[in-house]
Amino acid sequence: MTDADCIFCKIVAGDIPSTKVLETERVLAFRDLYPKAPTHVLVIPKDHYANVAELAAADPALAGELLQASAEVAAAEGVAESGWRLFANTGSDGGQDVFHVHFHVAGGKPLGRMLS
Ligand code: 5GP
Repeated sequence: MTDADCIFCKIVAGDIPSTKVLETERVLAFRDLYPKAPTHVLVIPKDHYANVAELAAADPALAGELLQASAEVAAAEGVAESGWRLFANTGSDGGQDVFHVHFHVAGGKPLGRMLS
């Protein structure tokens, strides 16, 4: 399942370069091109789903694999003890820019509070 116009599908295909940090049969994690924290990794399914809701409806097991991979990335990045943030911007008000579902794994500095 790919979308020809999706930049993350192109990263999965290897048509756009990325710095991979974890790969499984169905999941890819790579460094954000414009990191907002010392650790800033994007965790995506290789198949194209537009957002969290679409993924959860279509394949909840794959959503679980993304969670598992995100925790593995945090551990591998050395932020598991100090703490890290997992988030998925969704839709226009949620600030989503790339419409291929992705979890942000961010850490490596105090991130402050969201929505406070
Ligand atoms: P969103 O705003 O959709 O939640 O997050 C999209 C993220 O993708 C942003 O943090 C942005 O920096 C990152 N990004 C956009 N284009 C590319 C790219 O071509 N390669 C990589 N590695 N990250 C990208």
